Order: sequence, then structure tokens, then C-alpha cells
Amino acid sequence: SELRTKYDPVKYKTPRGNNLHCKGWIQEAALRMLLNNLDPEVAERPDDLIVYGGRGKAARNFEALDRIIASLKVLENDESLLIQSGKPVGILKTHKDAPRVLISNSQLVPNWANWKHFDELERKGLIMYGQMTAGSWIYIGSQGIVQGTYETYAAVANKDFGGSLKGTLNVTAGLGGMGGAQPLAITMNGGVALIAEVEEWRIEKRLETRYLDQKITDIDEAIDVAIKARESGKALSIGVLCNAVHLLERLVERNIIPDTLTDQTSAHDPLIGYWPHEISYEEAKQLRTDDPERYIALAYNSMYRHVQLMLTLQQKGAVTFDYGNNIRARAKEKGLDNAFDFPGFVPAYIRPLFCEGKGPFRWAALSGDPSDIAVTDELIAGMFPENASLQRWLQLAKERIAFQGLPARICWLGQGEREQAGLAFNELVRTGKVKAPIVIGRDHLDTGSVASPNRETEAMMDGSDAIADWPILNALVNTAGGASWVSLHHGGGVGMGYSIHAGMVIVADGTEDAAKRLSRVLRNDPGIGVIRHADAGYELAMETAEKNGLNLESRLE
Ligand code: NAD
Repeated sequence: SELRTKYDPVKYKTPRGNNLHCKGWIQEAALRMLLNNLDPEVAERPDDLIVYGGRGKAARNFEALDRIIASLKVLENDESLLIQSGKPVGILKTHKDAPRVLISNSQLVPNWANWKHFDELERKGLIMYGQMTAGSWIYIGSQGIVQGTYETYAAVANKDFGGSLKGTLNVTAGLGGMGGAQPLAITMNGGVALIAEVEEWRIEKRLETRYLDQKITDIDEAIDVAIKARESGKALSIGVLCNAVHLLERLVERNIIPDTLTDQTSAHDPLIGYWPHEISYEEAKQLRTDDPERYIALAYNSMYRHVQLMLTLQQKGAVTFDYGNNIRARAKEKGLDNAFDFPGFVPAYIRPLFCEGKGPFRWAALSGDPSDIAVTDELIAGMFPENASLQRWLQLAKERIAFQGLPARICWLGQGEREQAGLAFNELVRTGKVKAPIVIGRDHLDTGSVASPNRETEAMMDGSDAIADWPILNALVNTAGGASWVSLHHGGGVGMGYSIHAGMVIVADGTEDAAKRLSRVLRNDPGIGVIRHADAGYELAMETAEKNGLNLESRLE
């Protein structure tokens, strides 16, 4: 049964500096990144162990958290700790190059893979929702998603607005753990962001971290301010305290057409992540516990209406896309047949990047010292001088991103580049240019690590959208290659029954062994993405495979 306590900021403070609390740097890294995920600067709701994305958790309950911490402290350098949906269940003998932690979160046999069954099991304390990087201990706060969102809006700008969002109105909703990145990503691209959010504390949180410029509580006033900024070509972000449905209704009534339109409410989780528009916030909070079924019914009504309004605005000319929260599927489940008339952001903008093995490469300084990240920033900028959007990102990130928890950085790197970067980081550690090891990981939203037919694998060229062999192979190959911890999750991003995906984290501790592992893992991990897209028939992926020696045919000749 669920043991309820409150998050204790002293007990769970992330260790920094060079002293080990575990028997090796890999275990120490796992410990620090687990605690870092729960740091109040990083996590959305540490008292519930919720890191981001609706109810994405780092550990099942406080008892499990304490036992994971204790296990990591006794874990030997030839053992692996097993985590089953956020609870430690055993320590088994492996070997020095094996992952120190193996994680499986939220897996259900497909016929049972829905929220209803999950909720029953969760109430019994048997399972936990791991989202993507929450349960695999490599969430770094909103920066991770700012970068991905920046890339997406940059791609939108390139495709539809001549390279910049200057003078455009970009409407969306949700200022949560990930959605909170939208205002900054939009203003970094020069645009105006108008974002509906029901919870005032979320708006306040984004103002504090400087991701958001302004809070307005009146819908019409917010629209007016946004329109003025669009006219003057000023980059500005506005959080408007209201339901997304009400904002979109007002835009339609006033016939104001956004240039771009999307949504990042947690529609993937109708009970915990989406606020219905027909009742007040207070009523909804009460109803959620008193009568969850009624709540879900109201949430579905709202999501139906929400998507309907998005379609209306799309018809009037708004560049409209789904941002990976599965809202189209929810509306369709409720009977809106043309819900999928606007595309997902991956087929629309991201797939070409995946074909080159590009994805959200990230790292954190275990020392806790921001100057270590400055050293890595400089190194990366020097390594890839020809990559203009990377250079622009690194510059903007330095100016605009406030670190949350352990200092960290993210940038999208492709096949070959990730291996080069990882080995270079290991050298920084070996030669003492940074103060402690560096931990490297990525989101599960990546080239070869996810099967998610309404998101990352939507509209694959060969129709293989729902085939989940690829993330399984990804987890297996990263385990074989010696990643530091490997995780296999279900339901991340889009909810139960809609996705299977894998995570990996690897530590650069400056040793020769680490260099070998880094070289294998950071080559194979994106490699399987290139192979997956080449197998589906993408020309660019075939070329990338050829260039990087990943082409099976050439080996068999
Ligand atoms: P979160 O649960 O932390 O935040 C969701 C926010 O939406 C909350 O602040 C909530 O108050 C607000 N909200 C809910 N219903 C609303 C409504 N009707 N009107 C206005 N606001 C409403 O979640 P998150 O981490 O920000 O992620 C949001 C969603 O976006 C998730 O479904 C996630 O999977 C998805 N997502 C996808 C990608 C991607 O594919 N690249 C990236 C980020 C997030």
C-alpha cells in the first residue's frame, strides 16, 4: 500500500562535488540523477514524486525511493539493480561493463494496456507511470524540452514563414513541465506566444524561471496585447489564465487567426492531465477525486471541442499541428472523425532529423558547478562550427536558460557526432578540465528508441508505425554495449496503450573503460534509429547508414 510522506528537501538533496556516496561513479551518477529529478527546482510536484508529464514519476512511493537510494549505495561494480515500475526488486550479479541499473516501467500486456487497468493497479500500489525521462532519471527540467521545442518551431519557421517567427502569432495551451518551454522556444524564434493555462501557479513558475514574459487573466486583453506585439514584430510571450477551449472559442468569435496553433495540455492522461472547460477549476479538482468517471467524461467532451476548434482555425489558415499529447486520438475516441486532419509534429517537421540519427542529446555536470557546463558548451561549439542552428542555440541557451537542479545542457546531435562528443567529454574528465564526471543521456523521443504511432512513428513511409521491435532492440543493444542505466517504458507522451520506448544514460568518468563503453553506446544508440528509418525506406537514412558504416547490405556483399 502507498506510504505517503512529504518530500524532504534535506534528506533528498542532490549531492554535489567530488565525494562518492556509492561504490563507483556510475552508481553515484544514478543516485544524483534520481535525486535531481525530484529536486523542487526540477520536478513539477516533488511531494507526489511527480517529475513532469501528468503523473510521470521517478519512484513508486517514498518507501521505494528510500530503498532505491539505499540499494545504490551498496551496489557493487559488478552488480545490477533491477527497478520494476519505480520499486527496487533485486540486485543481481552482472559484470563491470553491464548497466548498473536496469529499469522497466509501466509495462502491461497489450490487451490490458489501457488507463483503466493501469489505474486499478496503481491504486493497489503495484505499478508506476514513468513517462519518459521521469522514471529513467534523466529529466533536466524545462531546458530539455525548450531545445526540442526550439528545433520544432525553427523547422516550422523554415518551412512556412521564411526562416523566422517574427511578426507571427503562435497559440497553444499548457504551461506544465514540458509545455512551459513553449513561450521561450517561440520568443527565441522571434514570435509572439499566446498560451492558455488553467493553473495560476504554473504561470507563476514559468515567470520565475524567465521562460514566460507576462501573465494576463482576461482573455480579450491577452488577445489584444498579443495582436499588438504581432503587429510591431516584437517577440513576446503571454500566459493567459483560462481553459484552452475558452481561448480558442474567443479567437474564433473575434475571427483572429493564429499563424501557428498547437497544444501541450496533458491530453494523454484525461483524468490527471486535462482540465474540462464546462466546470470551474475548483469543481474539477473536487470531481477528480469524488467521481473520476464523470471527470473523464467531461474531459473527453472538452477535448472533442478543443480539437474541433483547432480544425476550425486550421481551415481558416492557421498552421496547425499536434504536439505529441495525443489530443487528436482523444477527440477521435469521442467520435470526432476528422480529428487527424491536422498532422503530428514529427512527420511534419522532425522526421528528416531522425533519418540522420539526430535527437536530443543531453548531459549534466555531476559536480553541480555551472562552470563545468560552460567548459562543455565551448567544447561543443568548437567541435561543430558548421552547424549554424546549434551555434545559435548554444548562444541563446547561455543567455536565456536558467539551470534547474544540476547544471545541464542539451543539443540535438546526429550519428557520429554523439560518439565524438561523448569521447571528448570523457577526455575533459580525465584531464581534470571539469570538476567531476559528466553524465550523458537523452529523451526517449529520439530516432531509434520509440514506437508511438500518434507521435514519433506517425505515418512512417512503410506503414510500420505500430511495430515496437525497435525500442526493444534499442534497450537490448544499449544493455549489451554497456550503458550505465537502461530503461524500457510504456505509455510515455501519449498514454497507456499508445507507445513503447527506451531510455539510456551513460557516464563519462574519464576512465579507459568508460571511453570504450561511450564509443559503443553513443554509436549504436542513434545507429538503430538510422537503421530503423532506412529499413522503412527513407532515402536520407539510407545515405546516413552508408556514410556511417551501418549498412547491412554492404557487409553482406
Ligand atoms: P504537465 O502535466 O506538467 O502540464 C500540463 C498543463 O496543461 C498543466 O499545467 C495543466 O494545468 C494544463 N492544462 C490541462 N488542461 C488544460 C486546458 N484544458 N486548458 C488549459 N490548460 C490546461 O505536462 P507537460 O510535461 O507539460 O506535458 C504536456 C503534454 O505534452 C503531455 O501530454 C506530453 O506528453 C506532451 N508533450 C509532448 C512533447 C513532444 O512530443 N515533443 C513534448 C512535450 C510535451
